[in-house]
Amino acid sequence: MKEILNVEAIFGENVFTPGKMKERLPKSVYKAVKRVMDYGGELSLADADVVAKAMKDWAVEKGATHYTHWFQPLTGITAEKHDSFVAHPDGDGKMIMEFSGKELIKGEPDASSFPSGGLRATFEARGYTAWDITSPAFLKESGTGVTLCIPTAFCSYTGEALDKKTPLLRSMEAVSEQAIRIVRLFGNTRATKAVASVGPEQEYFLVDKEKYLQRKDLIFAGRTLFGAPAPKGQEMEDHYFGVIRERIGSYMKDLNEELWKLGVTAKTQHNEVAPAQHELAPIYETANIAVDHNQIVMEAMKRVAIRHDLRCLLHEKPFAGVNGSGKHNNWSLGTDDGINLLDPGETPNENIQFLLVLACILKAVDTHADLLRQSASDVGNDHRLGANEAPPAIISVFLGEQLEDVVKQLVETGIAATCKEGGILETGVSTLPDLEKDATDRNRTSPFAFTGNKFEFRMVGSADSIASPNTILNAIVAEAFCEAADVLEQAGEENFERAVHDLIKEYLTKHQRIIFNGNGYSDEWVAEAKRRGLPNIKSMVEAVETLTTDKAVKLFEKFGIFTRAELESREEILYETYAKTINIEALTMIDMASKQILPAVIRYTRTLADTVIAVREAGAEPQVQSDLLKETGRLLAEAKKALEALKAADEEAAAMPEGKEQAFFYKDVVKEAMEALRTPIDALEMIVDKEVWPLPSYADMMFEV
Ligand code: ADP
Ligand code: MG
Repeated sequence: MKEILNVEAIFGENVFTPGKMKERLPKSVYKAVKRVMDYGGELSLADADVVAKAMKDWAVEKGATHYTHWFQPLTGITAEKHDSFVAHPDGDGKMIMEFSGKELIKGEPDASSFPSGGLRATFEARGYTAWDITSPAFLKESGTGVTLCIPTAFCSYTGEALDKKTPLLRSMEAVSEQAIRIVRLFGNTRATKAVASVGPEQEYFLVDKEKYLQRKDLIFAGRTLFGAPAPKGQEMEDHYFGVIRERIGSYMKDLNEELWKLGVTAKTQHNEVAPAQHELAPIYETANIAVDHNQIVMEAMKRVAIRHDLRCLLHEKPFAGVNGSGKHNNWSLGTDDGINLLDPGETPNENIQFLLVLACILKAVDTHADLLRQSASDVGNDHRLGANEAPPAIISVFLGEQLEDVVKQLVETGIAATCKEGGILETGVSTLPDLEKDATDRNRTSPFAFTGNKFEFRMVGSADSIASPNTILNAIVAEAFCEAADVLEQAGEENFERAVHDLIKEYLTKHQRIIFNGNGYSDEWVAEAKRRGLPNIKSMVEAVETLTTDKAVKLFEKFGIFTRAELESREEILYETYAKTINIEALTMIDMASKQILPAVIRYTRTLADTVIAVREAGAEPQVQSDLLKETGRLLAEAKKALEALKAADEEAAAMPEGKEQAFFYKDVVKEAMEALRTPIDALEMIVDKEVWPLPSYADMMFEV
């Protein structure tokens, strides 16, 4: 019998949930905590002391020895510094374990060792972590034992955000405030706040540990820097939704269990398009918690893989020639009285509030397409965006037939009299049920697709934090709501209906160029988008400067999401990150080519040369062997030359001062030199004896997990 997993019993076991607080805290303290959680404000130090003690007692009962302020610096991954609860021995020599409200609320990591883009010089290193009461504390079990993790925001001494959470929280408040202005205009007096909800679908690859450890590129860069294609890729379309193999299944089972304990609502799992690629999706939740949970998911994916003698690759493009990994960021906005502002209802044409919200979102996305594009860029994602598998680097919105038709009517006549309906799908088999059909088909090629009652932003990279895309989404929608509310509040109640119609028509007319329902992967779309004047920002480094355009600074400062200094520091960090990442990749290639691949090829040429001599001595003509030797020699020479060129390019790049120019040099010169080295080496892999090739092949890695 298989052991029974009781999901209800384990769910949230390792989380200090509001439920546990309710049980363990005096009523008045619990109420105070809830109030701050829901409506902001500050918890008194006395109350924080009580919460800290309850949290520590719970954690210690569960075996925790340490606590940490868990935060998300601009490295894109999480950071933690562990402190034990050990305080001091009592008179009898027994250790007292303590955790105070002050320790719960505030931490003081050395800010100078995290990227700050010049906001913090090393001599003025003070930085603070501040407890994010809206995201529950949790226990992490790892090699160090059990640690109480307290989600925190990370700021400098002077109050600048040094992390991804602070701007996200600011953006959530901004969009909430503006959304409430909109619903008030439609007579809603109950709602007090609006909450952005997010459900991120996470893609990942699994490879066998033994093979992983033989590949320095996977170890250092998270992706293969060399590798000839396997005889089979994804062309048979047999992996997507295919039967989950035993070993992978047992990994998924463990992962789910771990995530459920951590309060993550792991919901969907399946094989993805590329061989060895999989996906996990949780149920959507408040943006802030979804961002934290996505970090927990990524960490758990890696940790659980190690237990199964596997390695989890979150890189956006671990293998050339097959699909890379992304993260579909599903986003919607709901009020605390239970209305999803993105729900069109049965007859969207009559739902004026929905149409206004939609018009605002289209305006926001069109106005700030460049920022959205930037928010989904990271070094790895450059291999996907614009390549032939992921959405192109052009932002456009898919609305589907039903809404597109409504928009068309509104633009043309100012009213949408009719609305396309879904109807019934007849299966044609009497024993099968007929199915109710959605009013709209799906479009898998759109970067920003309306999917029923939410938008799905599909550009985001698999390894990246989803904090930035959601910060941008909240910010740009807040701005559009604010501008609409300014106009409509001015109009007054008696003119409201007329004014709202005019505004919807105006926004839709002005911004309809952002709507595209066709095949986003086609060349025609690239040309058409150009004609429409939509930006097509092809790489991460080209996207960086969108953060400090006048339009962007105005937006962020208006809603207090970023200051200009914070934006400038982020730009600096992005250029540095890009340069450092490509440098590591280049050095890894140089290392592998010099110490592993070229020596192996040279050994192989010696075997070939010996064979040529032996065959000739035996009185035969070694034509084949000699041709092969020549071809190998030619590729070897090409590789050696490319290796020297890459070394020179990388040295030149590394000597440049950090910043934009250096980042562009890495993109334009060093990356090209890397490609030039990869080409002959991949060709060599196809002719050199597998016995002597020093690296596991694509086939070994993708088909033998
Ligand atoms: P798909 O068919 O595209 O995979 P799903 O319905 O399975 O779409 O949803 C994918 C993700 O979207 C899940 O994480 C789901 O919880 C989330 N999601 C569903 N509804 C909403 C919503 N209203 N707001 C935000 N995310 C949502
Ligand atoms: Mg989806």
